[in-house]
Amino acid sequence: MNNTFTNKNFEKLNLDWGLIQSELKLKLGTEVYESWIKKINLVEEFNNYILLSVPTRFIRDWITSRYLDQILQNIKKHKKGIIRIEFKIIENKDKKSLKSSDLKQITKDEKVSFIKDTHIQYTRIDPNKRFENFLIGSSNRIAFEASLKVSENISHYNPLYIYGGVGLGKTHLLNSIGHEMNKNKKVMFISAERFMYQFVKSIKSNDMVKFKDNFRNTDVLIIDDIQFMNGKEAMQEEFFHTFNALLDKGSQIIVSADRPPNKLLRIQERIKSRFSGGLVVDIQKPEFDLRKKILNHKISELTNLYSDKLNISEEIQDFISSKITTNIRELVGAINRVVSFSRIYNKMPSLAETKVVLKDLLNLKENNVTIDSIQTVVCKFFKISKNEMLSSRRSRYLVRPRQAAIYLTKILTTKSLPEIGREFSNRDHTTIIHSVKTIEKLKEENSDMNNNINKLKNIILYNKEDEI
Ligand code: ADP
Ligand code: MG
Repeated sequence: MNNTFTNKNFEKLNLDWGLIQSELKLKLGTEVYESWIKKINLVEEFNNYILLSVPTRFIRDWITSRYLDQILQNIKKHKKGIIRIEFKIIENKDKKSLKSSDLKQITKDEKVSFIKDTHIQYTRIDPNKRFENFLIGSSNRIAFEASLKVSENISHYNPLYIYGGVGLGKTHLLNSIGHEMNKNKKVMFISAERFMYQFVKSIKSNDMVKFKDNFRNTDVLIIDDIQFMNGKEAMQEEFFHTFNALLDKGSQIIVSADRPPNKLLRIQERIKSRFSGGLVVDIQKPEFDLRKKILNHKISELTNLYSDKLNISEEIQDFISSKITTNIRELVGAINRVVSFSRIYNKMPSLAETKVVLKDLLNLKENNVTIDSIQTVVCKFFKISKNEMLSSRRSRYLVRPRQAAIYLTKILTTKSLPEIGREFSNRDHTTIIHSVKTIEKLKEENSDMNNNINKLKNIILYNKEDEI
């Protein structure tokens, strides 16, 4: 199989990439498989990460923003130790002629891109998540200030317990604390999952003493996603003792979770009550201003990274900030997608294109936009009847509305040109192209036309003239 050609080149590879791909095909569906997963090749395995290749940056960014976690999950099923994935861009034309020695060279290439698994747990402190790049709004100010105080060592709150929904910045704050305190203290930063894993591993390898020393010698213990700690009496027992020992000797403990302490499941009451005994702060969903601020910040970060100006229009920024409201990770993901789009097509997406790129995040009910609904809205707007729109009459007062409806159908639905032609009284697809081009041109030349089209778009998509 072509996809697995690299396997044969490296004897030390254990993972069967073909098998993982077929599992992903089942999990994600044939379409996703054909468009993305099939294009990934395995280059090399390392102890705790693997190097994959894809033909373009766009594919890499797309896969990273949508499927990375699922891919990693499946890989972990076969090889537990893998904690992250790195990607290398290898264009297709080179791939066929690659020899294993070439691949080895590529793996040494410094330009190998480094993509961290944001959802999966790691024990390193991520230097990119610091207080300085944590933006503050009313929804997260208290959590931010508490974190800052703890890291400045002027807090008497121990433990600090931060909770909030997915993608709201908990891990970012824990990292920031870790990063800051690491400067002059011994910090241990671990996810609850990882804690459990290490615990079980130490028991199996008879290394409990080392495990205990490891945890009990630290000045600062940071545990992320404590809600994933569950069951296992022996482990909770150990955790509780570690916890108490650390508090006794004045070490700082910081914990994050997706819910308040009393809502944690399968965690001993006495552990919950120790959590509640410290400072408990929450992070709320970000308000509009904060969302806008984060987008702006992210765009300037990316501008620095790619060293070219990214002209993401105010309109698109407002659109994204007003539509993606519950999750900062998705907000950041959305902007990454828009940027990827602009890099692959060498232009900034229009609002309609942005909607397509972000469709699954926006949850737009695209199916509501039918040719029929477009025709109805346009007819009403220009005060003509549907019969007139669909007739073959070529009076000027009918031609423009007809062309506008055709144009809107083209940009707001996924219908093909012949399909559109059929719905407009069996017009030829060249007529459809002509209409689309005419409106595009008129929009540029004539601001009334441009305004009308924008109003129509808003009515069709949102039932309002001036939503965007
Ligand atoms: P959680 O751990 O709560 O699920 P994360 O800390 O992983 O969320 O945050 C998700 C993403 O959003 C990360 O890329 C993080 O850097 C970013 N992020 C979250 N909150 C902020 C913020 N206030 N300012 C800047 N970036 C943020
Ligand atoms: Mg997190």
